[in-house]
Amino acid sequence: MSAHYQVHGEIAVITLDNPPVNGLGYVTRVAFVAAMAQALAENAVQAIVITGAGKAFSGGADIKEFGSPKAFQEPHLLSLISLLESSPKPVVAALHSVAMGGGLELALGCHYRIAAPGTSIALPEVKIGLLPGAGGTQRLPRALGVEPALNMIVSGEAIQSEMLAMLPGQKLFDTMAASKDSLLDEALAFARSIASVRPLPRVRDWPCKHPQGEAYFQFARNMVKGMAKNFPAPAKCVDAVEIATKKKFDDGMAAEREIFINLMWTPESRSLRHLFLAERAASKIPDVPSDTPQRAIQTVAVIGAGTMGGGIAMNFLNAGLPVKMLEMQQEALDRGIATIRKNYEAQVKKGKLKQEKYDQRMALLSTTLSYDDLKDADLVIEAVFEEIGVKEAVFKELDRVMKPGAILASNTSTLDLNRIAGFTQRPQDVLGLHFFSPANVMKLLEVVRGEKTAKDVMATVMAVAKKIRKTAVVSGVCDGFIGNRMIEQYGRQAGFLLDEGCTPAQVDRAVEKFGMAMGPFRMGDLAGNDIGWAIRKRRYLEKPGMKYSKTADLLCEKGRFGQKTGAGWYDYVPGKRDAIPNAEVVAMVEAHRASLGITPRKVSDEEIVQRLVFSLVNEAAHILEEGIANKASDIDIVYIFGYGFPPHRGGPLQYADELGLFNVVQAMQRFAQNPLDDASFWQPAPLLQRLVADGKTFGQ
Ligand code: NAD
Repeated sequence: MSAHYQVHGEIAVITLDNPPVNGLGYVTRVAFVAAMAQALAENAVQAIVITGAGKAFSGGADIKEFGSPKAFQEPHLLSLISLLESSPKPVVAALHSVAMGGGLELALGCHYRIAAPGTSIALPEVKIGLLPGAGGTQRLPRALGVEPALNMIVSGEAIQSEMLAMLPGQKLFDTMAASKDSLLDEALAFARSIASVRPLPRVRDWPCKHPQGEAYFQFARNMVKGMAKNFPAPAKCVDAVEIATKKKFDDGMAAEREIFINLMWTPESRSLRHLFLAERAASKIPDVPSDTPQRAIQTVAVIGAGTMGGGIAMNFLNAGLPVKMLEMQQEALDRGIATIRKNYEAQVKKGKLKQEKYDQRMALLSTTLSYDDLKDADLVIEAVFEEIGVKEAVFKELDRVMKPGAILASNTSTLDLNRIAGFTQRPQDVLGLHFFSPANVMKLLEVVRGEKTAKDVMATVMAVAKKIRKTAVVSGVCDGFIGNRMIEQYGRQAGFLLDEGCTPAQVDRAVEKFGMAMGPFRMGDLAGNDIGWAIRKRRYLEKPGMKYSKTADLLCEKGRFGQKTGAGWYDYVPGKRDAIPNAEVVAMVEAHRASLGITPRKVSDEEIVQRLVFSLVNEAAHILEEGIANKASDIDIVYIFGYGFPPHRGGPLQYADELGLFNVVQAMQRFAQNPLDDASFWQPAPLLQRLVADGKTFGQ
């Protein structure tokens, strides 16, 4: 049963009950309609209260039904809303905790609304490239006022009920309850007080005007254009609200529906919906059921207080967990702590962090030079130099001191996690937690599952990731894991493009126009070109036949390591991040090209984007086939959250699906003909070939 029916004297109470957030799925809708029919049929019932069980009034559509025909099967949400609106008995929505999307639209169909303080109110559909499709764009402006409603619809952000209740002239809430606990009693009393009032108020009948109509909507359109250049939905939200101010209610509803359906078919909305589901799916591991027992994580230790160690520690401090940091020398500890302080102080200065919170967080941080002080930590994360000998020494020490059951994690980017686990007598407790730099900012966390990592360790760290607000993706063990293994191929292509005739700026511009946050050369300058240099020295020693452009090595030989040295592929002015093209670097690229006897050619932006993005796709197909990633959508998440891939394109594999895998493979075969490229790399991965042969997509 997903909606309950109860009668309290002359008031019927219908309670939505579909955990976790009372999503309005098919079964819930059917139960709701049955409960309404009962309330209308029983003569003793004078008024009806609608509320939600547990943690929400309703979070809106049931995401399990997303994209399936069930979402639109009758009775659909629009039918429920007209049932409420046309009810001859008054209906009162009693809102608490969460009233979002379809949940809020349902409440707007009721005659009255009472809210508990602290209720998050939102129409978040724009975040998945849509607009509210069950009257939200037509009713909310009537209930709340045009400007605040438009702000909510365009941003999709949640606002607390008590804030909305303070807006002058708002009619969204008829009254506020004192608390969530007293909400039902207050709703019952309110329902009794209005039970005989007629006519019944309906939001659809209320006026909807803006005093500076034309000028205001023009202003809103300009704002939205600047902020959401790759997304059609926000501008359509403005159109729909403007229509609410100009047309009759039913015509406005028809217009909203038409816009909604058109948006559903845009690649942007498909990509954002893919991403929404992909993010939720990423935390699920096929052979680790959700009821797998977890280990308690109450205290954390971090080894190494450098670039990564400091950022990693901040994540746990932010979540209220005590952290102990270990270094070899006091000086290094002091430096690390000073950096953490500096980061927090900058947040305090900007007003993003309260002084009191900063003090609390720093009080949770302690330091040590001795491994024996770490023994009681539940989770220890190592972030020392990327050298296997150093990792060996650290993990042997950890194995010696840590209590049984402690989880031992390495932040290694490239080293063999199974080998690291083998330095201990407890490989089942070892795994990789690969944070991205800056570790306190970047949302992605690659969880590297070793051959022997225990299932309860996996379940535990996935929950810990949620606690520290990371989007975690599981990767198997291979060189570079998911993200860096793919970026290596992307980097190789970027190098070949220089050899063939491009400048760094041309390559960066082309992919930035495509939507990448940063092109490969600006990214190299940010991360430090010396890091890639060191990795190439190691990797390509092991693979002597590996074809790659030597320009990046030549750049490093000049000491141009990137932003940190003020010079890389570009020049940098201290304190600024603008990349200024450098003539010497361009001359270096040209001289190297000439030394190889290559006549430069003009490479189109389209070819640049395809070679860079399809190199990711082909490597990803190998990664999937080898079982390094559990599913295609995990790879998309890695690229969106860790590498600045444009969200409106849904990740490299979703993008390839959109283009059609047949077309992608055709392009790869064309690239394989280029004598300056690596023909063997462009052999389409077997999985990709099979998908094309079967007419399937990665998503399937
Ligand atoms: P870093 O050089 O900034 O910091 C390393 C710190 O470890 C230094 O402070 C050093 O004093 C300390 N250290 C070295 N040996 C130690 C030991 N035996 N015991 C205790 N402390 C010791 O390096 P980083 O950039 O923070 O990288 C650390 C790890 O994180 C590496 O494995 C690296 O591959 C990985 N990683 C780095 C990045 C990045 O962008 N920098 C991203 C992801 C992962």
